[in-house]
Amino acid sequence: IPTSRVDRLLSSMGYGSRKEMARMAQAGGILLDGADLTDLSQRLAVTPDLPGRLEIDGAPLDPVPGLVVMLNKPLGMTCSHKEEGALVYDVLPLRWQRRDPQISTIGRLDKATSGLLLMTDDGELLHRVISPKRHVRKTYRASLARPLSGKEAALFGSGQLMLEGETKALAPARLEVLSPTEARLSVTEGRYHQVRRMFAAAGNHVEALHRESMGELCLPEDLAPGQWKLLDQEEIARIF
Ligand code: URA
Repeated sequence: IPTSRVDRLLSSMGYGSRKEMARMAQAGGILLDGADLTDLSQRLAVTPDLPGRLEIDGAPLDPVPGLVVMLNKPLGMTCSHKEEGALVYDVLPLRWQRRDPQISTIGRLDKATSGLLLMTDDGELLHRVISPKRHVRKTYRASLARPLSGKEAALFGSGQLMLEGETKALAPARLEVLSPTEARLSVTEGRYHQVRRMFAAAGNHVEALHRESMGELCLPEDLAPGQWKLLDQEEIARIF
């Protein structure tokens, strides 16, 4: 279990500089187990229960490093820290956007794709999820411009499909036909614009794309577009 000086921990979690933390402590704004904490050089074990013990300006500490957020990504938001316009990080509290290590998306969804998007400040977890070796299954629902031909399942499942400009065939993907112009597709890779390019290779065009699940972790019905929630350990384990 990692330990950290209180001032360093708070500063890394976006509460302010160590100087500002010292000032806040002097003013009685930091409580540990209900008692004023003034010596911020004190080291604390950084455990998930710390928000239940440490109170900052009258509110429980934010979740400690090692968090995973699930967002129902709305259309029109970009998975980027830098680009112009609406970014997926804008949905998080301002202080969470100032954390170091910073919160990043686990893989990306296109601006025009909606659905299940995970974010984390845990670099090791991030790499485990997107590692090609893990084959984490991502499931998408696609609405298509033209009726399915009936040949797509064989093409996508073949392990032979080569996307334009690439040199390695796609791993087999599973297609489930939902209606003449709707399908559920599950893939174990995460190539650039993969699902759109797969349907393009089949002579079709994706008009709407929505991610429903990653591994055994599904987007819950009651998480509206733009809403997010923190995942617990049991939910995180369902990714793998
Ligand atoms: N495939 C795509 O083409 N776009 C996404 O956003 C995700 C998978």
